[in-house]
Amino acid sequence: MSAELETLRQWIEESERIVFFGGAGVSTESGIKDFRSADGLYNQQYDYPPEEILSYSFFRANPAEFYRFYRDKLLLGDAKPNPAHRYLAELERRGKLTAVITQNIDGLHQAAGSRNVLELHGTLLRAYCTRCRKPYDPARIEKEEGVPRCSCGGVIRPDIVMYEESLDQEVLAESIRQIRAADLLIVGGTSLVVYPAAGLLQYYRGSRLVLINKSATPYDGAANLRIQGPIGEIFSKL
Ligand code: ZN
Repeated sequence: MSAELETLRQWIEESERIVFFGGAGVSTESGIKDFRSADGLYNQQYDYPPEEILSYSFFRANPAEFYRFYRDKLLLGDAKPNPAHRYLAELERRGKLTAVITQNIDGLHQAAGSRNVLELHGTLLRAYCTRCRKPYDPARIEKEEGVPRCSCGGVIRPDIVMYEESLDQEVLAESIRQIRAADLLIVGGTSLVVYPAAGLLQYYRGSRLVLINKSATPYDGAANLRIQGPIGEIFSKL
């Protein structure tokens, strides 16, 4: 085991209020495409960039194209939790981890058994009517063709935070509270360039900030420990 991994293992053993903050890199090992990585969705052929299709104004103006993209690119298929999800769920069961904060919308932390998951960007596992707010099973909007509509005539949407939309303020406030109270903050699988990831780190008060990522991030200098590599692989070695 490398010196960095040994330090991380020791810090985890000594900690009682671990918070994990994760991004797309946590799910890539489950086969879910990362929007922003070089081999991610941005480099694939589509009429508009994903950032535009997944914006609220685009959804309102062109729901058919939004849903074509949604069914083509966003669906989870048979994605299963990977060792990173399972390791974090195990830390919570052992009473060492208080929260997982995620930018992912795939529900894989919960599928692995995590209970306190703060989903900053919402989830694909819920949907609701934009007019009357009636909840719908997302399996229905996956199967239907065209734009799925509620019995009231309203358009059904997935419960994700689209571009141009603000985050759920309760989820954000609870994330800040958890980070403030953390004794160990592990940040993984995020390049820390997407709002609000970078801003959240400033609330950490401790001296054990760990960054685990495949590539460099703007916050590497602020980390107390930096480990390079795929997060599932690293957690598997602990
Ligand atoms: Zn409705």
